[in-house]
Amino acid sequence: MSEAIERPASGAPPWEYASAPESTDIVRLDDRYGLFIGGEFVEPKSGRWFPTISPSTEETLAEVAEADAADIARAVDAARDAAPAWQHLAPAERAKFVFRIARQLQERAREFAVLETMNGGKPIREARDIDIPLAAAHFFYYAGWADKLEYAFPGRGTPTPVGVAGQIIPWNFPLLMAAWKVAPALAAGNTVVLKPAETTPLTALLLASVVQEAELPPGVVNIVTGAGETGAALVGAAVDKIAFTGSTEVGKAIRRATAGSGKRLTLELGGKAANIVFEDAPLDQAVEGVVNGIFFNQGHVCCAGSRLLVQEPVFDVVLDKLKERLQTLRVGDPLDKNTDIGAINSKAQLDKISELVESGVDEGAEIYQPECVLPERGFWFRPTLFTGVSQSHRIAREEIFGPVLSILTFRTPEEAIEKANNTPYGLSAGIWTEKGSRILHMAERLRAGVVWANTFNRFDPTSPFGGYKESGFGREGGLHGLEPYLSFDGGAQR
Ligand code: NAP
Repeated sequence: MSEAIERPASGAPPWEYASAPESTDIVRLDDRYGLFIGGEFVEPKSGRWFPTISPSTEETLAEVAEADAADIARAVDAARDAAPAWQHLAPAERAKFVFRIARQLQERAREFAVLETMNGGKPIREARDIDIPLAAAHFFYYAGWADKLEYAFPGRGTPTPVGVAGQIIPWNFPLLMAAWKVAPALAAGNTVVLKPAETTPLTALLLASVVQEAELPPGVVNIVTGAGETGAALVGAAVDKIAFTGSTEVGKAIRRATAGSGKRLTLELGGKAANIVFEDAPLDQAVEGVVNGIFFNQGHVCCAGSRLLVQEPVFDVVLDKLKERLQTLRVGDPLDKNTDIGAINSKAQLDKISELVESGVDEGAEIYQPECVLPERGFWFRPTLFTGVSQSHRIAREEIFGPVLSILTFRTPEEAIEKANNTPYGLSAGIWTEKGSRILHMAERLRAGVVWANTFNRFDPTSPFGGYKESGFGREGGLHGLEPYLSFDGGAQR
């Protein structure tokens, strides 16, 4: 006979958990990391270095090279020199290299997960169960396409690689974003110069060691660290394609900088997704999905469900359930396996979140934050709900990129569509309802690249991802993600 488990009554304080810290012994950090160019770590010509820290402790983890335009030119030359041999390698041989990277990521998964959490502040549970396995899955998936490119795009002519790809990524999913970029580029026969974000360079540099272990020909993958100026130098360098993931503001600047240059361009930019809960939805499941939609990775997610639209008859019950659930979220040490919400990635991002939240209060929205004790050092923000939000409030319009949910209501599906689409962005959306026909009706009308139904924040390497409007253009993932890295002779270019 099973014993009854005693649960705290609703409204009672949540269970206390003993801490369960993940050991960091597996991570061996160097004091300094040079630039990864031509298959080896080299000193920067710039002579400049910058510290990279842990956002949960503010301790310096290592010093990292800051690449200038001369360093970027050296990396692009290395990629250019490596391109002919890589392009003409038998596709099945190229696939073997990409498979090797995937397997190494799997073998060293714990090391990558711990380092990702140390450098970025995300909960170890997420780095371990989502970021690193998905990154490996992308390399496995695209390795499988390397020797099948001719069959992948029927009627388009012979696919050939674009050449040298400059790739710039943000700090919210450092290794995963690197995988989204590097895996399809290599499988399609391109060589790459990758620039990770200033605050999270360490897993990209660990990826460089995997590239060495996998014995990729020198120069096929180059990794250059630095801040925005380094990224701008890469955009201006002699590359054939720029693949950018980051903010809409920087994306626009890159679009201007590459206009007329003949460089191919894909932009994966910001979002302000609507997560729409209908009155017939399974509400407990929906509340879990809403919580996952906005508090996953501290809300540092381009497709985060940051605008909750609730149908009026269930507004009160959804709000009560959300408040209750927020009280059980554990905020704190990201290396603790119990932690739900880790550290905000940087002081700058914390300031941005705080400023937008203050604007919400000033503009008259009602704020709710659960009681929780935040660590003294590091960058932290409580999970936050806003009610009484109107469409014109900044918190309903601007991407906060933090653990902050703005709640609005609607009466009819048409009103939900109108409100959901009333944004310059168009990256993702969520629908919660038991009615299949309503899911199809809504999905057809929502201007978003990805629409989830009765779930949220699901990713798979076989599935294309990307936006409309100011969320960018081009797709990553799936066959669509290979296309920007290929030219077709004899068929239409897209
Ligand atoms: P960001 O400031 O635009 O930076 C993104 C990358 O671009 C970083 O490596 C950054 O370097 C570099 N950069 C900055 N200025 C540059 C310039 N003028 N020219 C070239 N590169 C430049 O964005 P973020 O704050 O790191 O990331 C958050 C944004 O990314 C959010 O808006 C989010 O929605 C978006 N995002 C989109 C997707 C998607 O798939 N659509 C996925 C993830 C994130 P530094 O780090 O050194 O400044």
